[in-house]
Amino acid sequence: MAESFVVSARKYRPVTFDSVVGQSHITTTLKNAIRTHHLAQAFLFCGPRGVGKTTNARILAKTINCQNLTDEVEPCGTCESCVAFQNNASFNVHELDAASNNSVDDIRHLIDQVRYPPQTGKYKIYIIDEVHMLSSSAFNAFLKTLEEPPSYAIFILATTEKHKILPTILSRCQIFDFNRIQPRDIADHLEQIALKEGIKTEREALELIAQKADGGLRDALSMFDLNVTFSTDDTLRYKEVLENLHVLDYDYYFRLTDALLAGDISQSLLIFNEILNKGFDGHQFVVGLLEHFRNLLVCQDPATIQLLEVSESAKNKYLDQSAQASRYFLLSALSIGSHTDIHYKAAKQQRLHVELCLMKIAKINDVLNWDSLAEDEKKKNSVIAADRIVADRQSPAPKPQATPSVTNEPTVKYQNGAMPAPALGSKLKTTVKLAPTGETPQNEPTKTAEIAPTLTAERPFTFEQLQKAWAEFAQMREQNGGAVSEQVMLNRTIVCEGTTIKLVLDNLHQEQLLNEVKPDLLGYLRHQLQNRLLQISYQIAQSDAKRNPYTPQEKFNALIEKNPHLAQLQQRLGLEVDF
Ligand SMILES: [Zn+2]
Repeated sequence: MAESFVVSARKYRPVTFDSVVGQSHITTTLKNAIRTHHLAQAFLFCGPRGVGKTTNARILAKTINCQNLTDEVEPCGTCESCVAFQNNASFNVHELDAASNNSVDDIRHLIDQVRYPPQTGKYKIYIIDEVHMLSSSAFNAFLKTLEEPPSYAIFILATTEKHKILPTILSRCQIFDFNRIQPRDIADHLEQIALKEGIKTEREALELIAQKADGGLRDALSMFDLNVTFSTDDTLRYKEVLENLHVLDYDYYFRLTDALLAGDISQSLLIFNEILNKGFDGHQFVVGLLEHFRNLLVCQDPATIQLLEVSESAKNKYLDQSAQASRYFLLSALSIGSHTDIHYKAAKQQRLHVELCLMKIAKINDVLNWDSLAEDEKKKNSVIAADRIVADRQSPAPKPQATPSVTNEPTVKYQNGAMPAPALGSKLKTTVKLAPTGETPQNEPTKTAEIAPTLTAERPFTFEQLQKAWAEFAQMREQNGGAVSEQVMLNRTIVCEGTTIKLVLDNLHQEQLLNEVKPDLLGYLRHQLQNRLLQISYQIAQSDAKRNPYTPQEKFNALIEKNPHLAQLQQRLGLEVDF
């Protein structure tokens, strides 16, 4: 059984349009063109490897030469021409693999044959595979033929890299874009083959092969063959296929995500260790984890569930787990994970690099919870400040006290400087919770304290107004528990040139503080002064910038300069420098 199997890719290569898997948009169009005699003379078949470009080219060649087309516009398979095609003995089809034969001579040899009409049949078909690999001189030689082909010649160019095809070629071809084949279609196809060959299969095993093939049927078929060869009892089992293909069981990712959601760092590290012990590569693991989070994310919106390309059995698991994860968690985890992915190759301690990533992700929920607690605190504290802002906008006389109704409404969303917040999380919050546009401040007084996301005004302002707004902001930060060093920074002398506020900072620490507070500060100023063009620029006093780091904070800042990731780490994990 096994020996006869090594050839299933060739044995089960489709020979009619109807047996082509997962490209019905192309086969339908081609059949219609044949039926209505509107066949182009040059085609460009684009798409990933192993999805049926060459197969379709051959079927097209066979079909248009068939002497006895069926009513479904399929080759009969019995006429002289069809038989010649089936035996690879037809003189009407010429194939050139440009990946290995890309010289001018190769293409001249092909072009020479174009001059002679077919002796039997109607058309001569020239298939050039990987056409983007032709040398530019070969391309030019070919272009002339393509411009004025004899009526019996049909060119089918295939490529995996459409962007490399010259516009002069593109403009002369009818272009077909082949899809990656859906895993479900591939699994179905394998199931049919297994049935015909008397192989017993577990559906999950076939789905795993389909996943791993990533949309390529040819790869799926060779993996199928391989697994049948390894099987001792003509049965494909999920567990064995997993081993044979060296695929990480997705159960690991489900277990790991459970641990991460629970904030269980130890368990996360142990699971990662288990994966490494099974011989999986850390980078491969990170990529898989990202894919897992991405799948959970698309599950959260009914509109995007269709983007989930997993087996039916896995689908419910994804839906369950995605219900347990917040969107903030997933977006933050994706952000941390992709950072780890990008910097993996450069990391000196790659294992630690991934472990840090897991630790950060395990901390997300903590920080998010902390953040929302802090929000509640801030709501209480900022009511007075917010009310002042409202009052300032409504009338020149400030009202000192808040009305009770105001206290129940969300008010100022400025980030509390004393509270650590994940960069992504806090950004999201600012975006999500902003007042909707279109609401007038007069009708919704409590909303006016929030920054309108689409501020369009460019109102002139005086320096006094700017100073006042700046001082108000500093005061709000102070009331909300802002650090003393931040107040020192905010109390620097400011000057204004046009819409650019300029200040001179004492040191790198102040620079860091300013950058942390800048989004909130600018948002507040732009809103208060109704001018969206406001910018802040700063300089660091020369004498200090060159000084050697002295305080722990300065030393840390110096380290950040060398490795900016430290700042993110500090922010994400809410770490503080010990003084
Ligand atoms: Zn035929």
